[in-house]
Amino acid sequence: MVQRLRAGGIRHEAVLAAFERVPRHAFVDAALVTQAYEDTSLPIGHGQTISKPSVVARMIELLYGGANAQASGRLVNVLEIGTGCGYQAALLGTLARSVTSIERLKPLHDKARELLAPLRPPNLRLVFGDGMLGHAPNAPYDAIIAAAGGASVPQAWLDQLAEGGRLVTPVRDGGGDGQVLTVIDRHAEGYRRSVHEAVKFVPLKSGLAR
Ligand code: SAH
Repeated sequence: MVQRLRAGGIRHEAVLAAFERVPRHAFVDAALVTQAYEDTSLPIGHGQTISKPSVVARMIELLYGGANAQASGRLVNVLEIGTGCGYQAALLGTLARSVTSIERLKPLHDKARELLAPLRPPNLRLVFGDGMLGHAPNAPYDAIIAAAGGASVPQAWLDQLAEGGRLVTPVRDGGGDGQVLTVIDRHAEGYRRSVHEAVKFVPLKSGLAR
C-alpha cells in the first residue's frame, strides 16, 4: 500500500511512515481483511465507510502545507471531524502533537475507542459530538480535517482554525452529490480558499445519533 501511495505521488516521508505503522486491517471487519490494503473505501457499518488510503494520504499531506505546519515541520494541534472506525485518527495520532477526533454516531465512536485501545495513542482524544460545531475547548487548531462533506464549510471550523492554520475538507459541488476537496488557509488578513480534485465522501450531517 505504501509503495502504491508513493507511486501515486505522496512524497511526505512522515505521512508514508504513518501508513507503514498503522495496520489498516485492524480497522475493518474480518470479512474485509483481505481487501484492507487495496486502495478502496470499505464499509464500517452504520452506512459509513473507511476512506480510501490514497485520499487520506493526500489530505494529510495537504495539512502539512499549512503555514504553521511548514514553520514547525510538523502537525501540532489537529481536529478531525468524522472519527468513523478510527483509522485516520490513528494515523494522525502518530503524526501530530495532539489530536481531537469527533464522531456523531455513538456506535462508531464506541467502536473507534475499542479499536484504538491496543494502540493507546496518548495524544488522541475521541469526542462523541456534532463535529459541525467543532470542539471549542481544544481550539484553536493548526489543522482541521473532515472525512464528511456538506454544502458549505461550517462557521465553527473557520472560527476554531488558528492563524497560520489549514483546513482540508470535501465540499459539495453544485446541486448533485459531487464533492471537491477544498483547502482553506487562515492568514492574519483573512481566509484563502483553494479548490482541488473531485472526491467522494459520506455526507456531513448535523446532530447526534445513538
Ligand atoms: N476517518 C474515518 C472515516 C469515517 S467516514 C475513518 O478513518 O474511518 C466519515 C464519518 O463522519 C462517519 O463516521 C460519519 O458518521 C461522520 N460524520 C458525519 N457528519 C458528522 C458530524 N457532523 N460530526 C461528527 N462526525 C460526522
